[in-house]
Amino acid sequence: MAETAHQPGPVADLWEWQYQGACRTASPEVFFHPEGERGPARRRRDERAKQVCATCPVLEPCREQALSAREPYGVWGGMTEDERQAYHDAVEAGRPPVLPDLPGPSEDAGSAPGAPVTEAS
Ligand code: SF4
Repeated sequence: MAETAHQPGPVADLWEWQYQGACRTASPEVFFHPEGERGPARRRRDERAKQVCATCPVLEPCREQALSAREPYGVWGGMTEDERQAYHDAVEAGRPPVLPDLPGPSEDAGSAPGAPVTEAS
């Protein structure tokens, strides 16, 4: 009989949190920059994505996954690409990594393109 005590549990269990993400109904265009986007436009889009993340009940597992996978693109767990890179650079340099502050509630967040859609009850 096969020894199963050391085998990982069902993979679906590891990803179950994704079904609770505040971004699950959001446009990917809010979380991933278009080719060549820079400067203020990029900062504004990143900020809109982070406003969604700030409301997310699964921010912590999302952030942990993005950092451990070294996710190269997009806003994940309230962190931009540059913030994740800075985190990794700090760890590799032996400095304490800094987690970014998340934006506070915004009156615009609910109407921003890509904001989560509230389901009618
Ligand atoms: S933390 Fe942000 S990117 Fe992660 S699941 Fe939540 S809303 Fe989506």
